Amino acid sequence: FEAKRLRNEVSLYDPELEADRLSHLSLLSELETAITQGQLRQFVQPKLSLVGGEPVVAGVEALVRWQHPERGWLPPSEFVPFAESTGRIRQITQWMLEQAVDTLARWRAEDRFPDGVPPISVNISTLDVQDGLLPARIEALLRRANVPAELLQLELTETGLMASTQDPIHVMHSLRRLGVRLAIDDFGTGQSSLAYLQRLPVHELKIDRSFVDGVDQDAKREELLGSIIMLGHGLGLQVSAEGVENTAELAVLKRLGCDLVQGYLLAKPMDIERFEAWSRPLAVLETA
Ligand code: C2E
Ligand code: MG
Ligand code: MG
Ligand code: MG
Repeated sequence: FEAKRLRNEVSLYDPELEADRLSHLSLLSELETAITQGQLRQFVQPKLSLVGGEPVVAGVEALVRWQHPERGWLPPSEFVPFAESTGRIRQITQWMLEQAVDTLARWRAEDRFPDGVPPISVNISTLDVQDGLLPARIEALLRRANVPAELLQLELTETGLMASTQDPIHVMHSLRRLGVRLAIDDFGTGQSSLAYLQRLPVHELKIDRSFVDGVDQDAKREELLGSIIMLGHGLGLQVSAEGVENTAELAVLKRLGCDLVQGYLLAKPMDIERFEAWSRPLAVLETA
């Protein structure tokens, strides 16, 4: 008992732990400021369709950035895991959804895309799929902006789904009934069984970029990627690949029949204004 008490006292006054606690608190308050004071930015990265002749923009993925007043632009890896562990991710998700729906409403009003407004995908965390009110909140956002549900897609990671303490399938069905599109993100990195995968009411399988990396240099990797694409098609899903960085990788994906591609080769994440300028030449080409 004595030894235990001693250890507790030691840990209570551990200066390192105290420093950790303080930095945790200050990051939390900075993040709250970021959310409420407008320091978050929504970037988008195009997804291109390989089905048909010339690649066309089939959608964009929304990616959060934090424009920190002192530390500059912060990528999600610097704050999304923290936001997830402190529950603040739900406010970030809500903000990302609002931005996406606002942008979709504006694109529709401006009649900017002659072949139709590209859907926007928003990344959703484990906490969000555990939130039974998510479908109602999304429905309200779409209705208020008069945006068709099929223009909004949600990306849920395979690991995020597996980590959910509640079965996410019920919420996913509600979302699907709304007409929202669903994708499994980072596919191949989680532990989901084929039986589980078959139960998921999703439209798209997004293959993790680790399967794309170097696929042009190794026949085994190409076979593995080909099997994943066939699996997705076998389940009746649209198949996309992320992290396409060079033309050799792109050629393999085309040959293997992957439907959609995303990666630095085609376009990096950019702010909405830059995306609008970037997509204009494509639209001009298509109508020419
Ligand atoms: P993700 O959803 O799998 O997004 C793809 C990530 O890969 C993005 O990183 C993107 O910039 C990066 N990427 C795209 N093309 C390439 C490429 O050719 N090569 C390489 N090496 N990387 C590429 P980013 O923006 O840093 O986001 C990282 C992760 O953070 C995302 O992975 C997603 O899981 C999470 N995330 C981003 N925004 C949000 C958000 O609003 N909410 C939630 N919950 N998570 C988010
Ligand atoms: Mg994603
Ligand atoms: Mg991904
Ligand atoms: Mg990824």
